[in-house]
Amino acid sequence: MSLRNFRSHHEMRRKTYLKIINALRAGVNSKRGIQDHSGLSWGSCSPVINHLLSQKVIVTQDINNEGKPGKGRKTTFFNFNKEKFLLMGMEIDTRRITSCLTTLGNRPLGSYTTGFNQSITSKNIVKYITKAFLECREKLQLEPGNVICISFSIPGAVDVERNTWLYCERIPDINEVDFSRLNEKGVLPKKLYIQHNIHAQVYSVIPTAEIKENDYVFIHVGQGMAMSANMGGILYGHRGFAGEIGHIPYPNIKKDVICLCGKKNCLEAVLNAKKILEYISDNFDCDLRSLNEIKDEEIIRKVALDYLLDPLVYISTIVSNIFDPKRIIIEGSVLEPFYKYLTTAFEKKLRQTTWLNGPAEVVWCKSTDLDGSYGAILHSSARIINDFIYQI
Ligand SMILES: [Zn+2]
Repeated sequence: MSLRNFRSHHEMRRKTYLKIINALRAGVNSKRGIQDHSGLSWGSCSPVINHLLSQKVIVTQDINNEGKPGKGRKTTFFNFNKEKFLLMGMEIDTRRITSCLTTLGNRPLGSYTTGFNQSITSKNIVKYITKAFLECREKLQLEPGNVICISFSIPGAVDVERNTWLYCERIPDINEVDFSRLNEKGVLPKKLYIQHNIHAQVYSVIPTAEIKENDYVFIHVGQGMAMSANMGGILYGHRGFAGEIGHIPYPNIKKDVICLCGKKNCLEAVLNAKKILEYISDNFDCDLRSLNEIKDEEIIRKVALDYLLDPLVYISTIVSNIFDPKRIIIEGSVLEPFYKYLTTAFEKKLRQTTWLNGPAEVVWCKSTDLDGSYGAILHSSARIINDFIYQI
């Protein structure tokens, strides 16, 4: 076979496997369904299905006409193996790693959180990740070698192309950590993927929010602020941190504040828990240690309308006029206690301030709706499957 024929044969094989695996991942698992979804004849599907069965990538389940396993005329269904060829997602935070496990078809199988006494650093990162991996594997009773990859959700600046964690404001020691080299000792799976936590987190709510098209801007307001813009593809910026909207100066500020980044009046220096509590103590006869302690409806209403509304509308107007997204998705632990008064007022004001009424829809999420470890798997899905097809 000539080199050219060899290459085209491999490309054909890759495409056929991809079509069939994608059908299975879409939840199509009958013979007929796989043919229809992939657009292939059973003659083309059958050798691939047999190969996947022999490798135990998929398993069969016989179900009778009543939809139950047992006697009677049976139909065979194909499902991804729940014990082999599993995917792990890991969300890295300063002092904890949350891991989750799915089948090759992204079906969740369980999750586990490992805590650490000290912050993660460049020196201990391999040790921490290995500990989290082994603990999760033990907790979920997995045989070694059955996890084929880990996909990481990480904070700060991330270079997805080079698989490198560049920088993190909250973990100053992090500098150019190359994730391709973390598996050198052979304990971790060979394939490791990374992405910025903001992109991973929003992926975990896309199916539940029924947002199927890749046309949204996601705004997160928590410990810091961040944005993920997906206009048919995630925008990364040339240094990997497109989305650092928290460091845009807010012009309507009454008293200057210095941000953690060292600059003046950044939005995230205004929209954070400490500043909101300070606002409450300056304006009401009330001293609180946490936002969850606020019970007074009048204070909740006033903080929402007099303090949070304007900076949130300000940034959302900029974002809306630049990207013209179909949807803006907003999520933030510091905003949540005020959603009751904030959401309606925000949407009304946004229509007035944006070009042509802004996005078609505003979706509000809670921070508990997000799961970065699961989103990391979804986010790397296409790369995972592509690499996997070359391995089997
Ligand atoms: Zn700043």
